[in-house]
Amino acid sequence: MVDLVDMAEELRAQQMQEKLNSRAQFEGESRYGCAECGTEIPAQRRAIGGVTRCVQCQTHFEAQQKHFRGV
Ligand SMILES: [Zn+2]
Repeated sequence: MVDLVDMAEELRAQQMQEKLNSRAQFEGESRYGCAECGTEIPAQRRAIGGVTRCVQCQTHFEAQQKHFRGV
C-alpha cells in the first residue's frame, strides 16, 4: 500500500508540473523565490521551468483549486 501512495503522490506532482508548464506567461522561466511566501525554490524544482511557488504553496494552491471546482 505504501508503494501505491508513493505512486499517487508522484503522479500528482507530475500533473502539478504539467499545469505549471502550461501557464504560458511563466513558460520556461521559474522564479527564484516562491510567489506566495518568498521561500527560495530549490534549484531542482526551478529547473523544471515555469515554477512560481514552493512545493508547500503549490500544494495548498492546488488543493484550493480542487475545492473550488468541487472535485
Ligand atoms: Zn511558498
